Amino acid sequence: MPLTNVQTRDVEALLHPYTPLHKLRETGPLVLDHGEGVFVYDTQGKRYIEGMSGLWCAGLGFGDKELIEAAREQLDRLPYYHLFGGKSIEPAIELAEKLKEIAPFEASKVFFTSSGSEANDTQVKLAWYYNNARGRPEKKKIISRQKAYHGVTIVSASLTGLPNNHRDFDLPVDRILHTDCPHYYRFGEPGETEEEFTARTVRSLKELIAREGPETIAAFIAEPIMGAGGVIVPPAGYFEAVQAVLAEHDILFIADEVITGFGRTGNWWGSETFGIAPDTVSVAKQLTSAYAPLGAVMISEELYQAFVEESAKIGVFGHGFTYGGHPLGCALGVKAIEIYQSRDILSRVRALAPQFQERLERLRDHPLVGEVRFKGLVGGVELVADKTTKRPFAANHGVGGICAKHLENHGAILRAIGDTIALCPPMIITSDELSQLFDSLEKALDDTEATVTRNGLR
Ligand code: PMP
Repeated sequence: MPLTNVQTRDVEALLHPYTPLHKLRETGPLVLDHGEGVFVYDTQGKRYIEGMSGLWCAGLGFGDKELIEAAREQLDRLPYYHLFGGKSIEPAIELAEKLKEIAPFEASKVFFTSSGSEANDTQVKLAWYYNNARGRPEKKKIISRQKAYHGVTIVSASLTGLPNNHRDFDLPVDRILHTDCPHYYRFGEPGETEEEFTARTVRSLKELIAREGPETIAAFIAEPIMGAGGVIVPPAGYFEAVQAVLAEHDILFIADEVITGFGRTGNWWGSETFGIAPDTVSVAKQLTSAYAPLGAVMISEELYQAFVEESAKIGVFGHGFTYGGHPLGCALGVKAIEIYQSRDILSRVRALAPQFQERLERLRDHPLVGEVRFKGLVGGVELVADKTTKRPFAANHGVGGICAKHLENHGAILRAIGDTIALCPPMIITSDELSQLFDSLEKALDDTEATVTRNGLR
């Protein structure tokens, strides 16, 4: 199909993130125009159910009048101010107070950023600063995991454990290590039970720490559920065992709650769902339900005290972003948390989770589906060429992408991560809308199977 006018303007003007650039010039982008509830509409007026909340972020859906009004009021009152050098604004104070109230650990202070990448970059800088401040300058390495996703700035992309984020970018930088990914379906060995797999994965972390020297390791960073790595839900007992190892060696646990925060797994935090007691937490995305960019890092009193002492020695705590704590983002963050509470979004997620799970489990019998994974209202469907051997499709066939395209034809937007179809619908979705989303997914899987067979992609 020839490109429409707006598609032509797009490919002539935009360098798109996370896109097969060579293909986009032929296909053109899907240009979205407006949204309402769980639906978005393209420039031709076609409606799609948005099953990914955009990028795991618009948890309250589109066109929420309360959020829009909060934004309008803040823009009217004070569209910009900052927190540098002794200035402050009430929305930032109020949001920090709210975050402290709901945090999954004894949070003492909140540092604002504009994104999740900046939050995780900040985490690494804080871990380094903390260990310099307490006279442990050798304790600097950060352990992340293969298939982790922590962002795309130089250090957060280094934490990310995905080849496309490293290859050709000269990453990762040094002092960033990657340990095993706790995905039993993919990395469990033949005959190995899930418990044995978990024990082996944690043993491998232990060995890495021993090899590098525990005195050189500052922190371990993990998403409670790995999102952009393919919605990987950890096996039972994994985080308990990891934390026992970290505690032995004075290694901080940084929980990256950028996707799992604010109700996504049925609790406020993925940390609660998976028994994690973090030392510090990164948030973004659903913090404002994505109505404005905002991220944050929550830190303990111990870290804060170390920073205060260091600042007394060197003069200033030298870190901060122009838009960290932007009034618009903070006003929206305050309102989003109020809505999560007033509309009891956590109970909503819990009430819908069994239906979400049941519809996912039903897909297990589909000839394309190797594994389904889920918790709360986040899930993944991994497509494989051979169900028995778990053999994946050749990456260059782009079978996940084919399925995502079929989904669009059936009026739904989901995200293909390789050949895993990710689901992360707005938490305001109704039971009927959820059924509609899965009906579209089932049709798209059948269409994908037909395409795979027709083109001999197995
Ligand atoms: N951490 C996690 C767990 C994420 O999923 C993401 C974004 N997908 C990030 C960090 C980076 O956030 P941002 O894109 O806002 O920089």
